[in-house]
Amino acid sequence: MNRSSMRSKSRMIWHSNAIDRTAAAISGKMAHGASIYPPTSHPMENNPFAGSGTEIPVVRLPPTDGPFRHRAARFRQWADSRSSLAGYLNLMADLADVQHGLWEMAAATLPRDRSGQPGNPGWRATLRSIVDRLNPGEAGLASLLDRIRRATDEELAAWGGRVLAGDFDRIEAGIAPLVTAALQVHMTSFASRLAREEIGPAQSGTACPVCGSLPVASLLQTGGAVHGLRYLVCGLCGCEWHRPRVQCIDCGSGKDVAYFAIEGLGEAVKAEGCGDCMTYVKIMDRDKDAAIDPFADDIASLALDILMAEEGYRRLGVNPLLLPGG
Ligand SMILES: [Zn+2]
Ligand SMILES: [Zn+2]
Repeated sequence: MNRSSMRSKSRMIWHSNAIDRTAAAISGKMAHGASIYPPTSHPMENNPFAGSGTEIPVVRLPPTDGPFRHRAARFRQWADSRSSLAGYLNLMADLADVQHGLWEMAAATLPRDRSGQPGNPGWRATLRSIVDRLNPGEAGLASLLDRIRRATDEELAAWGGRVLAGDFDRIEAGIAPLVTAALQVHMTSFASRLAREEIGPAQSGTACPVCGSLPVASLLQTGGAVHGLRYLVCGLCGCEWHRPRVQCIDCGSGKDVAYFAIEGLGEAVKAEGCGDCMTYVKIMDRDKDAAIDPFADDIASLALDILMAEEGYRRLGVNPLLLPGG
């Protein structure tokens, strides 16, 4: 979608005083003195899609059967209704299907030390399996897959290290999403098997407490004790960590928070922009659409990123499945 077509779209902006303050107050209570270790186990610990229970988890781990089957279906759903992005959305659906197919194999090769991932031969085997299983389709993808096929172990380890460090600028164009896909299988599987006492305290509000990566988006959860609470979703391992609503996740200010949406993209996905530091993060409401997947819905709402850039906002976090690389 080009910028001129974006300008023809209607824009809708809500300011924070129009947001439900009750939900914000509940959410705000969590932020003060919240422990990374809730006092007892929570039934949703390994099932972020469940909605029962009474305790509020500060960190929610991915489901033990992985998020990829659901993600593939969501990418296909969006491909059917976003014709201008259908080619990429269908490719991402195929990629998520391949990730799901490799889930069990990856689990068998996991090191227990998360810092061992770049040098771990397991994820490199997963990347090579992804390359073999993806249908090359058009010539551009075929040459990309061939480039990865010819890469040495040292090159793959270097690419993996850069994705884990968020250093996407030093990866060849187009490589990062596929390296990310392989690492996602391993890191998500790793995270889904963590015990609560293995999760350290968050280093910052914007970094995943499990792997240190940036969030892809934030989710408003639905059901049970988490209903209406906002969680950031890690772009690599899929963990979710709580952050209060109507409060900038970067500078913490709640004074000039505004919500942006584009007519025709649906009610469930908005951008939360902070006028103090001019950053934004997408906020996706599962109460309005229970089938949301943060990676698929983020790419399907690319027009919103273009709008926010036009409004002068800088995005917090990344979707590593979309990054072209350097
Ligand atoms: Zn993570
Ligand atoms: Zn801010």
